[in-house]
Amino acid sequence: MTRLEQRESAVVNVLVQGARLFDPVEGLDVTADLLIQDGKIVQIGDKIAAPAGTRVLKGMGKTLLPGLVDPHVHLRVPGQEYKEDCVSGSAAAAAGGYTTILSMPNTDPVIDSGATLEAALERAKEGAVIQVGFLAAVSVGREGESLTEMRDLADRGAVGFTDDGSPVESARLMRRALQYVRPLNLPLALHEEEPSLTRGGHMHEGAVSATLGLGGWPGIAETLMVARDIRLAEQEGARIHLQHISVRTSIEEIARGRERGVRVSSEATPHHLVLTDRAVLSLDSNFKMNPPLASEDDRQALIEGLKTGVIDCIATDHAPHAIHEKEVPFEAAAFGVTGLETALPILLEELVAPDLVPLETIIRAMTEGPCNAFDLERPALRVGATANLALWDLEARWVVGDRPFRSKSANSCFLGDTVRGMCLVTIANGRLAHDELEVLA
Ligand SMILES: [Zn+2]
Ligand SMILES: [Zn+2]
Repeated sequence: MTRLEQRESAVVNVLVQGARLFDPVEGLDVTADLLIQDGKIVQIGDKIAAPAGTRVLKGMGKTLLPGLVDPHVHLRVPGQEYKEDCVSGSAAAAAGGYTTILSMPNTDPVIDSGATLEAALERAKEGAVIQVGFLAAVSVGREGESLTEMRDLADRGAVGFTDDGSPVESARLMRRALQYVRPLNLPLALHEEEPSLTRGGHMHEGAVSATLGLGGWPGIAETLMVARDIRLAEQEGARIHLQHISVRTSIEEIARGRERGVRVSSEATPHHLVLTDRAVLSLDSNFKMNPPLASEDDRQALIEGLKTGVIDCIATDHAPHAIHEKEVPFEAAAFGVTGLETALPILLEELVAPDLVPLETIIRAMTEGPCNAFDLERPALRVGATANLALWDLEARWVVGDRPFRSKSANSCFLGDTVRGMCLVTIANGRLAHDELEVLA
């Protein structure tokens, strides 16, 4: 049974007055009041009276959205708390309107045993302000040689399995992993990279890498593994979730697999949706990530894939690193960027405001998509549901980096960019998780 953990705190009584309530999965787009009592949504309607002891939030001009769900976060727990921890990472997520996040097991030690998983869940229970789940590793030590005790890890609450940070290089091990997870009905989340093609690569292979003389990382390295794993999942009848898809050819493979009925979900990151390898011309290491930023044609394919549903999740791959790991020459810098605090705001600015992607599509990919992929309860603006929601000013514009990050790390690829949409209040699992209004008051 999948476990999500969050710090114990009081459930809230809140009345949101006169906000736009937008939840496309519920078919809801109205201006109304929404009443939360004891952490549950109990009424949606006009002119609701606030019961005694209820905090009133003026919602005029604001939008109430369902809580966002991020299926791909690196909380760095256990062992790398100098980069991030459950307190800082979940606070960063809450500030970005998230109410549930899933953390990756490429930690120190790797989450590859029941004891390590339990310890990580315990950290979340002590410190996380929103709900946190963990994926466990596919292979012991993420070394790609022998499988972890998947049944035991599933029994103790793993949400799925991944060797993220690395691919499962051996097709034989991948096949066996698929055979093991099939009866557990949990997804394998896959970082797709053919390592013999990416060795020595620092950025996308193309005109920009040639100009800079930096080692190239060909897009086909991702697509080959995507094709392999879709075929293996099809043969074994198991579910796979493809992480941070970045190039057009991979999307074509996913679309073909879906047509054949393969159970494959996939995610794209905000940075791959709005940036290309041209950003690397600055040699700023905050544009160094795995997979690398690809071409404009690849970016257009990701946007199209999001609109057609081939890409059904938006995931940040929030990967915090300390300054000493990033403020070094590009080739020496660690791969990865933060993303929880900027995800929806950069997408609102770059995709929704210019009418490239409807808000509905973005919200579905940040709620319904990840919940379907990992069998999580979907945050919904619905009477009877536990309050997992956030109040946004979708028109507020702000500059990334002007305010300190909640994350312990500041390796954002959007530093200095003007973005759109500020999350004012987040309520996760009926509990107050983020309160910008308190700060502004
Ligand atoms: Zn990865
Ligand atoms: Zn990752």
